[in-house]
Amino acid sequence: MNYDYDVIIIGSGPAGFSCAMQSTKFDKKVLIVEADENHLGGTWLNKGTVPSKALREAADLILDFHSQFGDEKGRKPFEKFRMEDLLSYKKSALESKNKKVKSDLIKNEVETARGWAKIKDPNTVEIQDNLNQTKTYTTANILIATGSSPLLPEKFDVDDNHILDYNSILNITHIPRRLVIVGSGVISFEYATIFASLGTRITILNDSDEFLPFLDSEIRQSILKTLKKRGIVLHKLSEMMDVKPNPLRTCMEVIFKTESENRKQVIETDHILYVGGKKPNTDNLLAPGVDVELDQYGYVVADKTYRTTVDNIYAAGDVTGEPTSASSSFVQGRLAACNMFDIPTESPSGDIPYGIYSIPEVSGIGLTEEQAKEQGIDVTVGRAYYENLTYADINHRTDGMLKLVFRTDNLKLLGVHIFGDYATDLVHLGQSIMVQGGTIKYFIENVLNYPTYSEAYRIAAFNGVNRVYKAGVKYKNILEK
Ligand SMILES: Cc1cc2nc3c(=O)[nH]c(=O)nc-3n(C[C@H](O)[C@H](O)[C@H](O)COP(=O)(O)OP(=O)(O)OC[C@H]3O[C@@H](n4cnc5c(N)ncnc54)[C@H](O)[C@@H]3O)c2cc1C
Repeated sequence: MNYDYDVIIIGSGPAGFSCAMQSTKFDKKVLIVEADENHLGGTWLNKGTVPSKALREAADLILDFHSQFGDEKGRKPFEKFRMEDLLSYKKSALESKNKKVKSDLIKNEVETARGWAKIKDPNTVEIQDNLNQTKTYTTANILIATGSSPLLPEKFDVDDNHILDYNSILNITHIPRRLVIVGSGVISFEYATIFASLGTRITILNDSDEFLPFLDSEIRQSILKTLKKRGIVLHKLSEMMDVKPNPLRTCMEVIFKTESENRKQVIETDHILYVGGKKPNTDNLLAPGVDVELDQYGYVVADKTYRTTVDNIYAAGDVTGEPTSASSSFVQGRLAACNMFDIPTESPSGDIPYGIYSIPEVSGIGLTEEQAKEQGIDVTVGRAYYENLTYADINHRTDGMLKLVFRTDNLKLLGVHIFGDYATDLVHLGQSIMVQGGTIKYFIENVLNYPTYSEAYRIAAFNGVNRVYKAGVKYKNILEK
């Protein structure tokens, strides 16, 4: 049977984009359908990854400038810099990235259509545009790459003015003096440190007991110390009660309770940023009778090859659930294309790194010290503190640490955990050693550029080896192993 397309991809975020690019390399006819009338690139380019990182870079530059040179009048960054400057920094980054995505799709002859897509049957997609006109196309395969959207708060409404979510914070017109962030995940932490760098007084209301519980506990302690140093207040086990304007004091009031102090507390603030969970974009996507299985939260159920419960319908990216990141969505979209067209491929070997673009950054891969011990593995750790790195000293950015987790018996690297500048880049050096089954001797026996942040690996490796030595193993034996 002849179809209009070999694959119709619903959604132009990283999962959809990479599936399209890979499919055209296999000489397939591809259509991407995107509901956003103005932009391609999904949350990646328009609401999440790239815009928040562009704001982060601008804030980091300001923090750098401010901490290197100070201010002779003792002014805060928000008294010298305007949000407008940060927004135009972000705008230029987005424009150039948007242009590149568009030109990549055109160069590779990927067709695009604007409108809401609905899967009518396994080989038919209907697209409804903003004038309510519908078009129907047939296809051999479908990729669902519709991503996710922010969950709305239960106790108050996001008005995109005083109460913001991760979309509307990107268009805030001034640097707030005070900001309360409700939610304590990665995005909350990133925005807390971005605005703290601009001089904003930040309070985070965390409804759980632990902050970023998946992190190595020592790294988490190191982060908490830095948050304190920056004046960021973190309330754990807090329960939101109400949010309301106080017209007399021209501010917003956030009313909450914490478990430790079981009484109502009120914080006055200029803005509230709500960063709760996410929900998959699967509403109205499937016509009745299309048997793609969704889980209890609405996420698409897909197997290891990204195939759904319908043979020719695949799904990749946030719409399939954790890990919800642009980095993994790119890989999943590409692999879905390979599987769809029977091109032999390998899934990523080993662990997936995580990256948190706070100021400074956090990143890691593999087992934490606690996880290794829970699994009964005899591990030793090696630490390097940024204050001992020449490059960090030169840059006056000495907050942070790098921690290696490795097997005591053969020095095999099992985990790398970093808090500090360039952590999200640095982690890949550890990743490549881990994927190849290497040991921490690599960092001792090879020449690394100096001065660099990578020096942390060398210092941590020596620190780790010295611990093994203290445990009674002869130094000569350690390095001969
Ligand atoms: C503030 C923030 C910061 C982030 N920072 C990072 C980071 O630093 N690093 C990282 O790796 N990840 C980051 N992420 C996560 C990352 O943005 C997402 O994981 C990624 O964009 C998901 O990609 P996707 O292709 O699955 O979907 P998306 O990028 O969400 O794209 C889905 C697209 O599908 C379209 N769509 C939905 N339904 C339909 C329909 N029925 N018909 C047609 N089109 C439809 C949507 O309009 C959207 O454009 C961040 C997210 C946020 C919110």
